[in-house]
Amino acid sequence: MLRLDKLVKTYRTGDQALKSVEIEVPIGQVVALIGPSGAGKSTLIRCINRLVEPSGGKVWLDDVELTALSSGALRRARRRMGMIFQEYALVERLTVMENVLSGRLGYVGFWRSLLRRFPQKDVDEAFRLLDRVGLLAMADKRADELSGGQRQRVGIARALIQNPALLLVDEPTASLDPKTSRQIMRLICELCAERGLAAIINIHDVALAQMFVQRVIGLKAGEIAFDGPPDALTPEV
Ligand code: ADP
Ligand code: ADP
Repeated sequence: MLRLDKLVKTYRTGDQALKSVEIEVPIGQVVALIGPSGAGKSTLIRCINRLVEPSGGKVWLDDVELTALSSGALRRARRRMGMIFQEYALVERLTVMENVLSGRLGYVGFWRSLLRRFPQKDVDEAFRLLDRVGLLAMADKRADELSGGQRQRVGIARALIQNPALLLVDEPTASLDPKTSRQIMRLICELCAERGLAAIINIHDVALAQMFVQRVIGLKAGEIAFDGPPDALTPEV
């Protein structure tokens, strides 16, 4: 389970992006994070894996206080948090398969390490995941040959090969057309259910969130303005 305890982020500019946010997300639950631009959604997601350093409060993942970890321990803990990005963050000149395997390295962008051989069990798992996300036939294609929806499927498989406990998903559909957006959201939510993953999905499109998740958290000016089932959402949130 993920727990945010009085999480605060004040940027050096003085922007109070998060003001004492309290959230618990149990195992297997998918939460959509909504709210206007500037509400603090990206900051919240990035404070969880400490791509942004919180100014106060605590973040717990199961029995580990992430906010108390030194950099080495944080690197290990980040392996339990899969990230999915708006712009996919694939390595364009590598193949689909190589991009998926790069998830085994724990972080994105360190592609040179791919020159070393991966254990067969990682390769087998990558094939299984590519099959699950519908890209088995594309395994040897380069990332820059793919459509946006296909790229995001690679991003999903790359996050899952880490075998994470939690998925942090930042605007996964913001660069996709409406039909592809629905397919991607459905896939993410199905995979979380299949694997018992908790997920926080930062999503601009409220209607899309309502279609697929059981819980919506609305942020407004760094505070929780709504927390409940999507059908209880009112227009002003
Ligand atoms: P959202 O994802 O909901 O659009 P953000 O988390 O990006 O919101 O931003 C929340 C607030 O923090 C905004 O006022 C934004 O301008 C500010 N902010 C975000 N990132 C930074 C930064 N690196 N430095 C200073 N202020 C920032
Ligand atoms: P998005 O809303 O699409 O997530 P943003 O425009 O909020 O993107 O942020 C893009 C980048 O700029 C992020 O790295 C964020 O931390 C940074 N940023 C956002 N607002 C500010 C700000 N007021 N001052 C400095 N950096 C900011």
